[in-house]
Amino acid sequence: MELVLLLLRWLRDAISGVMLPPVSEKTLFQKIMDREEPGDILYEDDLCVALRDINPQAPTHVLIVPRNPIPSLNALTEEDETLVGHLFLVAQKVAADEGLTDGYRTVFNNGSDAQQTVAHVHLHLLGGRHMSWPPG
Ligand code: AMP
Repeated sequence: MELVLLLLRWLRDAISGVMLPPVSEKTLFQKIMDREEPGDILYEDDLCVALRDINPQAPTHVLIVPRNPIPSLNALTEEDETLVGHLFLVAQKVAADEGLTDGYRTVFNNGSDAQQTVAHVHLHLLGGRHMSWPPG
């Protein structure tokens, strides 16, 4: 009898969806792309989105983020070769749109030593002020 009750409970839970695996968590940048979180999006196409950094380190600070949530530069493969080139061409276009005629810097932070904080690969575009070298 107890076994039948257990089976019935399992069936009820399965039917009500309780037993379904959880939906995988989106990255912050995916939520911004999907308009589930606020974000200042300047440009988007089939492969990527460019949005203003919430904590800008220069007068222009834009993140160019692929739609594919690859966690870091280290996780890129040969299949991503065209995508990476595309991110740089979008950076070039955004820099022109932002009027960065005196130059700009592009950066991929990779891993903890480089202080990567969001595990969804993104190219930083910084400009609008004179920068020092080497970076901190
Ligand atoms: P990184 O440290 O290289 O992983 O860069 C992550 C960047 O995302 C930082 O420069 C943050 O300021 C920026 N950031 C964090 N949250 C947001 C957000 N909600 N909208 C835009 N940029 C963000």
